[in-house]
Amino acid sequence: MDSGRLAVIALGGNAIAGPGMDVSVESQTAAVKRASSIIADVLADGWRSVITHGNGPQVGYLSEAFEALPPERPRQPLYIATAMTQAWIGLLLKHSLEEELRRRGLNVLVPVVISRVLVDVSDPSFNNPSKPVGPIYGREEAEELSRRYGWVFKRDPRGGFRRVVPSPRPVSIVDRDLIAEASAESPAVVALGGGGVPVVERPGGVLEPVEAVVDKDLASSLLATQLNADLLVILTDVPGVAVNYGREGERWLRRAAASELKKYLREGHFPPGSMGPKVEAAISFVERTGKPAVIGSLEEARQVLSLQAGTVVMLG
Ligand code: ADP
Ligand code: MG
Repeated sequence: MDSGRLAVIALGGNAIAGPGMDVSVESQTAAVKRASSIIADVLADGWRSVITHGNGPQVGYLSEAFEALPPERPRQPLYIATAMTQAWIGLLLKHSLEEELRRRGLNVLVPVVISRVLVDVSDPSFNNPSKPVGPIYGREEAEELSRRYGWVFKRDPRGGFRRVVPSPRPVSIVDRDLIAEASAESPAVVALGGGGVPVVERPGGVLEPVEAVVDKDLASSLLATQLNADLLVILTDVPGVAVNYGREGERWLRRAAASELKKYLREGHFPPGSMGPKVEAAISFVERTGKPAVIGSLEEARQVLSLQAGTVVMLG
């Protein structure tokens, strides 16, 4: 089965949850089914893939569920919630990918790899948590949670307060060899959900999970580099990358040199919570490997993988 070019495909929120990030099992199943059918078409074209995915809506849901427990019941740390979403979304993807592949004459079992990502204990984000997770709280609730669990809160642009956690940069994908082995056996592997379970290395090589969230696009870029993939593909809910997005002078980029995107990034065209990490992920894969990366919409995945749609990022 180890033939065909390898693409690391990162799926965004629209591939794993319903409209408005609805996480009812019906909405998730419908979203995942649609994504799986599109990806199965790509695999039928001869690609092999390692599929990564976000987990924002699902982690938010789990935080709310934990919150609703009586105060005397234990809370689970965020890294456990991340691992839970890897299994949860992994199962849904596995199930429908296998089904869609079978329909196309490919009888395979899709491995789901619980994946960890190494981060640096001295990453500056540990002193400046900024990644929002979970629901919006009122001031009093936020103060109470902060007292009880030591959580850090920031004001949300929509009003109220949201918990923020560190978002360190990924240093290495701990389970990369396992993912590579799985990839040699199956044209589709699901791995690195939610950007991976973040761990730090303690003296003696002991790995210890940490309360943080790694950006799934940055982690996927590193995985693609470490797997020596031929292409990094970031699929989301817009046709690609635009300058002046949603403003006067909006212009969608078909092809862009990494250096040109760096300039736009500095000029503030790509916000940190959405398009910023995707563009950074693409730049870093291209600069480290000399191979292309592409950012495009899930609907157009087939054309995106053949670089006929989306924004193609090249060296230069
Ligand atoms: P995902 O959930 O797929 O990982 P995000 O929602 O984090 O993706 O980011 C995709 C969103 O980024 C798009 O829906 C779009 O609204 C927004 N966006 C912000 N700036 C840009 C830009 N310059 N070009 C294209 N999309 C942008
Ligand atoms: Mg989104």
